[in-house]
Amino acid sequence: MWMRDDLERILFHETTILARLDELAEQITRDHLGKDLSVVVILHGGMVLMADLLRRVHMPLLIETLTASSYHGGTASKGVVDLREEGLPDVRGRHVLILDDILDTGLTLATVKKQLIESGGAEGVRTCVLLRKKKERPVRVGADYVGFEIGDEFVVGYGLDFAGRYRNLPFIGVLKEDVIRGELAEKGVE
Ligand code: 5GP
Ligand code: MG
Repeated sequence: MWMRDDLERILFHETTILARLDELAEQITRDHLGKDLSVVVILHGGMVLMADLLRRVHMPLLIETLTASSYHGGTASKGVVDLREEGLPDVRGRHVLILDDILDTGLTLATVKKQLIESGGAEGVRTCVLLRKKKERPVRVGADYVGFEIGDEFVVGYGLDFAGRYRNLPFIGVLKEDVIRGELAEKGVE
């Protein structure tokens, strides 16, 4: 198990995550029943959450995806969100639920939400993240559905990557310092 060996500690085991997703899915279903719902998943981080959460939402919905990134390979947000605008899904007149892995600075969710309302013509937009970091945010953006609150530290697993890896870990954990340092030094990222 080389991936597990790279972890300092585990924050949320798979069973804990899935139990929380049962609760979130029930809430989401209750809040959107009878509405035209499009779920917009932010890739790549939101893909594991998408699969496990949406299979628990028992109502008709459409699934769309967007690619956005503010990390660019390191372990801290660079403060710029890359959004492929040509890929903006058609959500005119629809209720939208944005799904992302984690709310950190909030820039990604704020940017995507604004675009879906202003250019996409969404009727209403709500947001759902598996994790929310407890911290001061430069932009005022919340999330309507939050799986777990965590401290301000870099986590991997369950869709969240470090340099493209660890997304397929079924749980969420914190990497060892030396794993991060080693990879960044190799890549020349500060
Ligand atoms: P924000 O725009 O809120 O600063 O950052 C959100 C994006 O940054 C998330 O979609 C996620 O891809 C990435 N991100 C933020 N915090 C973490 C973290 O602790 N670990 C990993 N792997 N990615 C993170
Ligand atoms: Mg992301």
